[in-house]
Amino acid sequence: AGSDSGSAVEDCIQVVIRVRPASSLEQRSAEHFVAVRALEGPTGRHVAVEVPGAQPQVFKYDRALPERAGQEEVFEAVGRPTVDACLSGYCATVFAYGQTGAGKTHTVTGSLPQAARGRAAAAASDLGPTVGLAPRMFAHLFERLREEEARGGGQFRVAASALEIYNEAIHDLLAPGTRGLKLCSDKRRGVYVEGLKWEAVRDAADVMRLLRRGDAARRVGENRINARSSRSHGVFSVTVERTTPRDAGGDDDGAGALGSLERADTSAGSSDDQGGGGDGSGAGSGPLRERIVSRLHLVDLAGSERTYSGAPAASPLGRSKHQREAAAINTSLSALGRVVQVLLQTQRGGGGGPAHVPYRDSVLTHLLKDSLGGNARTTFIGNVSPSSLCVKETLSTLSFLRRAK
Ligand code: ADP
Ligand code: MG
Repeated sequence: AGSDSGSAVEDCIQVVIRVRPASSLEQRSAEHFVAVRALEGPTGRHVAVEVPGAQPQVFKYDRALPERAGQEEVFEAVGRPTVDACLSGYCATVFAYGQTGAGKTHTVTGSLPQAARGRAAAAASDLGPTVGLAPRMFAHLFERLREEEARGGGQFRVAASALEIYNEAIHDLLAPGTRGLKLCSDKRRGVYVEGLKWEAVRDAADVMRLLRRGDAARRVGENRINARSSRSHGVFSVTVERTTPRDAGGDDDGAGALGSLERADTSAGSSDDQGGGGDGSGAGSGPLRERIVSRLHLVDLAGSERTYSGAPAASPLGRSKHQREAAAINTSLSALGRVVQVLLQTQRGGGGGPAHVPYRDSVLTHLLKDSLGGNARTTFIGNVSPSSLCVKETLSTLSFLRRAK
């Protein structure tokens, strides 16, 4: 198999571990000590875990961010390259995985900046220290789009949606009350959620407003004991559609091309989120414009603490609400684990022939089928506590995301 010394080939799955600072609750406990350390050095990126009464364990990942790493560092490590890949035409997904309280929401959303009053949204680098990945990524996305447009790289249309997967059912967070949406697929659009609301966004401030709405909808009915957001997967998605004249630079036939451009536009509904080229091949005079759609998903996963291998994922009938939730979370996270396992094996060049990737085993993996593996860029951020009090869950997170090197 090819050695991975050459970084020329970018892996389609990246795994980054983020160790958060110890909480005050952890620090107050007599049994607490710092058991988990991120070590980034010339020899690699490791996470070392001290297991009381046993040998320390070391895991290797693409990055290991220590507790002092702030939101901006996470953006530089994960957010910026993801947005840039998306603008190069890739579909990209960022997952936050880990037990409840490990820092998933802090990482993905953090504090949301007030939707900039004067409209002009702050640049990605000007956002405060607690602002998370999503606001930074969208600030960067729109900075890049403005640059591209200014240099004649085409025109962009961006739309966003927010949904929640709870008990293996899809709920629209931008249209509260729209529940139990269905997954569909066809050749042209790939996998999509039927009836999901997609809203056009013109700038980072627009996206921020949607993030806030999604966030608020996800918290409805939530309290400390009943933290629904820890039992559901939150998926915030954006599609970026770039339209360029196929023959860029041909100014001479501008007027004629414009007419066709408008006609071609009517074929694309705003909720038409099919990625890849291939369409726009109108009969007759041939396509005069090119349309590239890329997708970006940010996924704040349900807390992983209920996932344990071997748990029955069988019929949820006749079980308590709690058991049903646990089974549903287990269904999605373990399906995600299996999908990732197959993708990582393929990435490492293991096995012969195209592997079967079990996307259809859960709503989450089915929904993200086109943005997971294949030609997509996927990043997992494994959030963990540094505390000895959480070592069991931390080891489970680290081994879920383990990469054999
Ligand atoms: P999760 O979404 O995984 O359940 P949260 O993101 O809600 O966890 O984090 C739990 C608490 O820890 C929150 O109060 C959050 O602000 C805090 N926290 C998490 N990660 C960090 C970090 N890297 N730096 C500072 N505080 C953090
Ligand atoms: Mg959370």
